[in-house]
Amino acid sequence: AKAAGRDGYQVFDPARHADVLAEAEQRAALERALLEEQFVVHYQPIVDLPARELIGFEALVRWNHPEAGLVGPLTFIPLAEATGLIVPLGRWVLDQACRQLAAWTAEYPEAARLRMSVNLSPRQFQHSGLVAEVAGIIERTGVPAGKLVLEITESLLMKDTEATVRTLEALKALGVRLAVDDFGTGYSSLSYLKRFPVDILKIDRSFVDGITADSGDATLAEAVVQLGRTLRLQTVAEGIETADQWSTLRELGCEYGQGYLFARPVAADEIMPLIRSRPTG
Ligand code: C2E
Ligand code: CA
Ligand code: CA
Ligand code: CA
Repeated sequence: AKAAGRDGYQVFDPARHADVLAEAEQRAALERALLEEQFVVHYQPIVDLPARELIGFEALVRWNHPEAGLVGPLTFIPLAEATGLIVPLGRWVLDQACRQLAAWTAEYPEAARLRMSVNLSPRQFQHSGLVAEVAGIIERTGVPAGKLVLEITESLLMKDTEATVRTLEALKALGVRLAVDDFGTGYSSLSYLKRFPVDILKIDRSFVDGITADSGDATLAEAVVQLGRTLRLQTVAEGIETADQWSTLRELGCEYGQGYLFARPVAADEIMPLIRSRPTG
């Protein structure tokens, strides 16, 4: 806990000191992990909802910790974001995901139609080198720009600064597609969406969760699908776990989805059967 001294200086606080040390240690561990390539990218299939056919993947980072084993991103992304390490880490994920898509495409002609979605954190988005890095990765890996989807958060759009619009437009000019992640959680006005060159809305899992039991969530999900249709944006529902949620979303007209019902995020070498398999209906 912070304690302010009489004249505004911080008073030494042992608990706070321990926090700072712990954070410095965690930061160092993250840096080491990046250097030693302890991160891995898993891929979650995104499917066409009516046909359940694979249309692409979302790249999701994990930390293969030498002692703790596989650690999920929610435990280290916030620290990476706070320390700025998300910039090199995010660049690594993007590079990895594009190389993986290029490798699958080289090996399997079926993979040529698939797209790759990669998360961009706010800090990465504000980093001045972003557009050049994305351009470089597209060029080096040979992934067609139109196959790459960058997922940004709704809160980032809500800031609505000149710089945000400029960066989005520069990314669009490269030919990549933009998705708004966790859509519906930001309490933003909907009209702002028209001002940004986005292509895809991702309906947050919290709405999908209650979609069959809670009519409020169903109404929200329906509103997002409608909005997508009006603005000619694709809609992707996340966190689909049950057949009921799947059919409800299908009836609402949501085009795409991802969730444990279809597949969990898996390591790259487990993806092949999914690419090759025909839809199961
Ligand atoms: P997100 O972007 O909303 O990603 C979807 C999360 O929902 C993933 O969690 C995924 O595993 C999980 N999920 C997918 N289907 C289901 C389902 O049916 N049920 C449930 N309960 N969960 C499902 P994950 O992999 O733990 O990632 C959590 C968050 O960490 C992501 O949320 C994203 O915000 C962040 N993240 C992950 N990878 C990256 C990355 O490379 N860069 C950045 N900046 N953030 C990342
Ligand atoms: Ca996402
Ligand atoms: Ca999401
Ligand atoms: Ca979410």
